[in-house]
Amino acid sequence: MVELDENTRRNFTSKHYRLVGRHSAVEICSWTKKSITDEGVCYKEKFYGVHSHRCAQVAPMVAWCEQNCMHCWRPMEMFRPPTNINGEVDEPDVIINGMIEQRKKLLLGFGGNAKSNREKYGESLEPDHWAISLSGEATLYPRLPELIRRITALKNTKTVFLVTNGQEPEMLQRLADENALPTQLYVSLIAPNEMLYKRLALPFYKDGWERLMRTLMIWRTFETRKVIRITQIKGMNDNEESARQFAGIISHAQPDFVEIKAYMFLGYSRKRLMKENMPSMKDVEGFAGRILQHLSGYSTVDKDRASLIVLLRNDTTKFPTRIL
Ligand code: SF4
Repeated sequence: MVELDENTRRNFTSKHYRLVGRHSAVEICSWTKKSITDEGVCYKEKFYGVHSHRCAQVAPMVAWCEQNCMHCWRPMEMFRPPTNINGEVDEPDVIINGMIEQRKKLLLGFGGNAKSNREKYGESLEPDHWAISLSGEATLYPRLPELIRRITALKNTKTVFLVTNGQEPEMLQRLADENALPTQLYVSLIAPNEMLYKRLALPFYKDGWERLMRTLMIWRTFETRKVIRITQIKGMNDNEESARQFAGIISHAQPDFVEIKAYMFLGYSRKRLMKENMPSMKDVEGFAGRILQHLSGYSTVDKDRASLIVLLRNDTTKFPTRIL
């Protein structure tokens, strides 16, 4: 059976996660809170039009991951490796209903908050955007295709974003084969070559790099919006050679969009990296420019200072940047 132990449950709960069933969780993103009180929206609202105040940030496998990334700001020290997951898992409907219910409870305080935008607060209780990206690796949930199909079929759902580390290409192929691709599929790319990947992602699988590259090969046929997200860690993966190698991978994988985003000196990552590893907006723009020097067919289309991110778009993609 796949289940969190009491100690881990207590730990996650103390960090404002609401656990759902035996292995899932929901949290209220700081941008959701800011949006309800009209203090800003996340870059995904700015770039793609999804609604920050109606975003359900969720994870079906909150404490299981195949990597131990240096830059991860989640409570990775409580994570477990992807072994023995083929036992009994929670039903997709139980997870979804639990997430909606727990999310509502977490938002209740905004009902009595004088700073809340009343209309937005009312809307926020019914999520229309699902960010399957909170913590852990969602592709380890054996019933992910069913989960995504059921989320997509909810009457309020407009968009579903899935973020993966690319370690489970077979599951991604299942999403494509079983008509369960999300609106936007992200693959996180932390390193431009195997040696650096092993150093920065500390993968569980010996063939972690091959798995990641296989993901970026097979997804080319997937009929959905594909995004590579590069996390720039200053002084670690952003020299000239890295820019050239990242450009080579992008060219090969042909995503519709590339997000080049600064590592944020936050949460648990502060135990592993230093403040100096967090790039400035100027650093991110400079790195994006250097990648573009080695990459044809992509152009800068947007950027966001609050999130230290630059967005590149494939010149030949059929997808407009904005979804809504
Ligand atoms: S899309 Fe991501 S950043 Fe935006 S509100 Fe949702 S979880 Fe937060």
